[in-house]
Amino acid sequence: MTELSLPNEFMSSDSDPAANDPQGSLFSLDGPAWETDVHEQITVATVVFSEMPFGPFDYSVPSELVDSVRPGMRLQVPLGKRRKPITGWCTKVTATTTGGMALKPIDSCFDEKPLCNANLIQLVLWMAHYYQAQPGQVFDALIPAGVRMGAGTRATTFFTPTQQALDDEVVAKLPAKQQYALQYLIAAAEPMTLRDLADQAGCTEGPIRQLLQKELIVGEVRRVMTPGILPSRNNVLTDAHSLTKEQSAALAEICAALDSGKHSTLLLHGVTGSGKTEVYIQAIEHLQRFGRQAIVLVPEISLTPQTRQRFQDRFESVAVLHSHMSPVERNHHWQRIAEGQVQVIVGARSAIFAPTPHLGLIVIDEEHDASFKQDTIPRYHARDVARYRAHLEGIPLILGSATPALESWNAAKKGIYKRIPLHRRVGDRPMPHVQLVDLRLKEDRTGGSISRPLMQATRAALAKGEQAILLLNRRGFATTIQCPSCGHVVACPDCEMPLTHHRDGSKAVCHYCDYQIGTPPWCPECRFDGIRYSGLGTQKLEMEVKAKFPEAVIARMDSDTMRRPGSHERVLSAFRSGEIDILLGTQMIAKGLDFPNVTLVGVINADSALHFPDFRAAERTFQLVTQVAGRAGRGDAGGEVVVQTYTPEHPAIQAASQHDYFQFAEEELQQRQKFAYPPFGRIARIIIRGSEETLTEAFADNLVSSLERARDAQQAEIRILGPAPPPIAKLRGKYRFHILLQCPDAGSLGNVIRAATSEHRSGEDIQYVVDIDPLDML
Ligand code: ADP
Ligand code: ZN
Repeated sequence: MTELSLPNEFMSSDSDPAANDPQGSLFSLDGPAWETDVHEQITVATVVFSEMPFGPFDYSVPSELVDSVRPGMRLQVPLGKRRKPITGWCTKVTATTTGGMALKPIDSCFDEKPLCNANLIQLVLWMAHYYQAQPGQVFDALIPAGVRMGAGTRATTFFTPTQQALDDEVVAKLPAKQQYALQYLIAAAEPMTLRDLADQAGCTEGPIRQLLQKELIVGEVRRVMTPGILPSRNNVLTDAHSLTKEQSAALAEICAALDSGKHSTLLLHGVTGSGKTEVYIQAIEHLQRFGRQAIVLVPEISLTPQTRQRFQDRFESVAVLHSHMSPVERNHHWQRIAEGQVQVIVGARSAIFAPTPHLGLIVIDEEHDASFKQDTIPRYHARDVARYRAHLEGIPLILGSATPALESWNAAKKGIYKRIPLHRRVGDRPMPHVQLVDLRLKEDRTGGSISRPLMQATRAALAKGEQAILLLNRRGFATTIQCPSCGHVVACPDCEMPLTHHRDGSKAVCHYCDYQIGTPPWCPECRFDGIRYSGLGTQKLEMEVKAKFPEAVIARMDSDTMRRPGSHERVLSAFRSGEIDILLGTQMIAKGLDFPNVTLVGVINADSALHFPDFRAAERTFQLVTQVAGRAGRGDAGGEVVVQTYTPEHPAIQAASQHDYFQFAEEELQQRQKFAYPPFGRIARIIIRGSEETLTEAFADNLVSSLERARDAQQAEIRILGPAPPPIAKLRGKYRFHILLQCPDAGSLGNVIRAATSEHRSGEDIQYVVDIDPLDML
């Protein structure tokens, strides 16, 4: 990957005063603005909004608020003709002299203290610039809704004595109870609630209300966490493993980076089972001597109880951030993190925004995983955001993987990242042997989807009391429902994609928009009543496995069986305890699991991701096969992997079967270079969608013209492809077109897109989105 483009300055808010005039008028009612004293010092707050108009707009800060207004807090400000003030994010507070234009004053502060520090504000502005989102929208992504709402907090009034209460003569005249309560409050030297003061001064609330009436005390409303919402846990900490030689060498390099006090990116490239997590943990232990915190990002799917436990066993205070958290829990964790009470934050993508006061290290485990890219605005990649944050904080970033993304691999080759290898598994366990089964050969077929070699291997494992994992990356029962008479394929009316037959409830489901109908008993086109289900999904595989191994206990893990919170954990813990013999499922079972008794992994169809219209198809296939194969042979009983494929000669499958990342990466890099795909240059994708096909296409054509003009004006070296219908040409009833842009450097790519898109607005009928460094090409 080339260096991130770091904008030197963020868009300034003062280029066109008329466009930025939030008042809707340049004149105040007090007379023309230019009569104000031009040398008068004023404080100006720059504010952005998460909805239209996004700003930034400048406001003056009234003198009584000058001490409280700080960047990173929300402010209540007047806007346009709105009658009530609205809430925006303050990005900047500057002292300046009035430039002859009266700014409208802010109304009040919404927050007592900033919700992000200077570095996080800088991160917001960078993300907004780089990913072409509005800063207000990025703030909303950065600060969880639970925190913005103050979930689990309540407004509480705290009392303090007034100036008058310090007058002994006044106090002496008070009735005894009032006098005692007041003296108690003065002695406490901190604000107290009515309830607490009454309790501790041993009186009812009456005397305190009297003090309030006499203006001897005043109340101030603050939001506080509702007590007792989350139990605090007592950890019994366990000891460190003694590291292998390779692990020690890796740790030494990481510690040197930590001690350098500088930013660097380290690629911990360790084969599956090489003990990367232990290295992260000991690096964090090293860091803690300096009282600093660490953020560990893992793919959402890997946030298993096992992962949590590994960290909770070793650190006093760990916050685990996951998507099933309630707003109250989220707010609670966020506040604890902000107060510096949490040593380690483990979470999925958005944990990169954890408000740690003294961040010392960021780790991204399984850094190649696609779940680190967000597919809604702001469409950020947590790896790149992490790099920018680590750069701002001057700290190391560790990227860990057995199959690094080619972007990371290339950056390591160029010396931008430092590569730290772990070539061997812990305990010198061998990598599992991989057998490729050519599905084109008749003698290996069984009439089902499990080949003869896979059947034999499964039988052998079961006979020894060992466990097996079977991967099939498609959920449902049959992936197409087709009429053998007229050829009609039952498809989604909104997406035009074939519906998948789900046997539970006999539904036909669109996997793109979740449209559902009862599976038609006869062809909806020609009424022929012998409609055929073909293509293999996990439900059908489950049936076949049950039939072939009737004595085995089988569990299926895919997004259909894992709907309810906790189901994931239940299945995994049953598998761990040996209650389940065969675990089958989608890529959910491919990642991060560490079960020593799993000796067999079967890949039902390694080609399923190979023929996608996406230049990363081979890379994804290599990663998936390598990762799932890595689940085998983690214990002393060794391991065997059976990979079924129609293209055993494909380089990605060959390399995965030989555990040969280098061979794969070198061949694939040559392919990428030929077509200037990442990591050799940057890409961006613009997706346009609308309910009317021709209008949508015309809009896309116009957008391309603007892009071409901007490219020529800026003399940028950009290839523009499209507009064309993407593989998913219709989604949720909207027609889709996409434009692909390729450019050697991110900076000019961004500039051209910004210039071109400023001429086009998303409207009611047609919307478009810009996706920088897209991972999704569908
Ligand atoms: P990776 O993430 O590289 O695939 P893990 O971190 O899951 O590997 O480690 C694999 C297994 O080895 C885990 O069960 C872990 O507890 C264990 N392990 C790691 N380091 C050591 C060590 N130095 N000695 C013994 N066991 C270790
Ligand atoms: Zn659909």
